[in-house]
Amino acid sequence: MTSRTPLRALTAAATALLVLTGGTACSTEGAGADPDRVDVVAAFYPLQFVAERVGGDAVTVTNLAKPGAEPHDLELNPRQVGQVSEAELVFYLKGFQPAVDEAVAQNAGDRAFDVTTVAPLRDATADGHDHEGEDGHAEESGGKDPHLWLDPTRLATVADRLAERLGAVDPDRAADYTTRARTLRGELEKLDTEYTAGLKTCQRREIVVSHAAFGYLAERYQLEQIGLTGLTPDTEPAPQRLAEVAREAREHRATTIFFETLVSPKVAETIAAEVGAKTAVLDPIEGLSADGGGDYLSVMRTNLTTLRTALGCS
Ligand SMILES: [Zn+2]
Ligand SMILES: [Zn+2]
Repeated sequence: MTSRTPLRALTAAATALLVLTGGTACSTEGAGADPDRVDVVAAFYPLQFVAERVGGDAVTVTNLAKPGAEPHDLELNPRQVGQVSEAELVFYLKGFQPAVDEAVAQNAGDRAFDVTTVAPLRDATADGHDHEGEDGHAEESGGKDPHLWLDPTRLATVADRLAERLGAVDPDRAADYTTRARTLRGELEKLDTEYTAGLKTCQRREIVVSHAAFGYLAERYQLEQIGLTGLTPDTEPAPQRLAEVAREAREHRATTIFFETLVSPKVAETIAAEVGAKTAVLDPIEGLSADGGGDYLSVMRTNLTTLRTALGCS
């Protein structure tokens, strides 16, 4: 198959032949499906961002997580399960959203692309902000940390692999996917350079955050993450943990307790009041806020500005 544009004009027989010979873009007959584009379902925002950038006008991307909603505990309605069944590619991160994992296992067959197959995830326990001779505050031990998109260099590698996968689904445009992934890699590497320079010389390196989403960011830029809760934001921290974090915040002279756009700031405000710090948004970019605006790159740059102020970077 050389071009998709004339497909609509083809006779039924020719279309049937194309399907038999493996023409993928012709196979989706779902309502509203554009036969000229590859239908990609992305499980949450950073994957949507990568799919749109790598896919360009050759794909239609549907995000299962709605703006303004926290995606960890996403529930799928029957229509969305149908989207997973009908997509030509389901782009997801196994272990991040149980409902998506289940829908993929039951409905996506070999049409799923799991981000965790690109590179091994960090161990959650590798978060260790421990002091010599103290008990570490072990979080959910044994778990894997899914928040890899907060390291732009890792996200660039995910984009490269997605380009290969899209090229396999849609070989005619494989070179376009590769080119767009390379462009995105350039932008992500520029962002990485800004982070490295911007966080090079700081008065503090500890970040007190609401859920432990910043492990990859901390690892990449030599910060120390102190999370009020573990890898998911849905648990209320125990009073003992609050006291522990307050002690850490005082000890490291934290000026700022970070909270997230998609989760209540109440606990962060409580700690901040107790230790005499401010609060500020440090966005884990699990989803864009409902009032939208910006994209992965712009939110990452806002985060960098926020970090530089809070940590006293020169
Ligand atoms: Zn998270
Ligand atoms: Zn400490």
